[in-house]
Amino acid sequence: MGQPEEIIQRIGMIKIIFATNNANKVAEIQAAIGDKIEVISLKQAGIDIDIPEPHDTLEANAEEKSRTIHRLTGDHCFSEDTGLEVDALNGEPGVKSARYAGEDKAFDKNIEKLLINLQSKTNRKARFRTVISLIWQEQEYLFEGICPGTIIPDQRGNAGFGYDPVFVPEGSSRTFAEMTLEEKNGFSHRKKAADKLVGFLKQVSPELTG
Ligand code: IMP
Repeated sequence: MGQPEEIIQRIGMIKIIFATNNANKVAEIQAAIGDKIEVISLKQAGIDIDIPEPHDTLEANAEEKSRTIHRLTGDHCFSEDTGLEVDALNGEPGVKSARYAGEDKAFDKNIEKLLINLQSKTNRKARFRTVISLIWQEQEYLFEGICPGTIIPDQRGNAGFGYDPVFVPEGSSRTFAEMTLEEKNGFSHRKKAADKLVGFLKQVSPELTG
């Protein structure tokens, strides 16, 4: 154990690659994790690939992404996969959330398709589910975060991304797109999974505690 300044310097140097190029996700996870670990996107790590998501579960897709980056870098890394699971659509779009309306992954077309498919449904219950896959010292770990809520028939708000303008989390009357990042993180699936990741990292790296 060194002097306090030395420890702070060492803490400041902890970096972990997050296997994504989605700047919103990096910002959300960084805010959830705090300032003791620096979250590095693929672009910031100098890795220019689009990792496929070919599997039919969030878990398998998340694992594919973290394994790919671990093979390339040999470093600690994590990835996440998120899906919107709608009760009245038997859990769809789920693992297909990004490409629900087509390969171009367009948020507006995905929302449009979702609202059309829900037009005749009275049950508007849904949940976001995030799975984080971490590779830490050659071991793999999974962490899950769930945010229950409802899908509203019209879009509200301009913040966030994806299905945020039509998703109202349980316990709020506003959509995710009407919230600041901090407010969204008070409910968010990704924040809940990130908290579990941080809890784990604190266990294995006690210098992160506090
Ligand atoms: P991905 O495959 O994990 O990137 O996420 C699949 C899709 O789910 C994204 O393209 C978004 O449309 C949607 N999504 C993921 N997380 C969120 C969120 O926090 N809010 C709204 N939509 C999200």
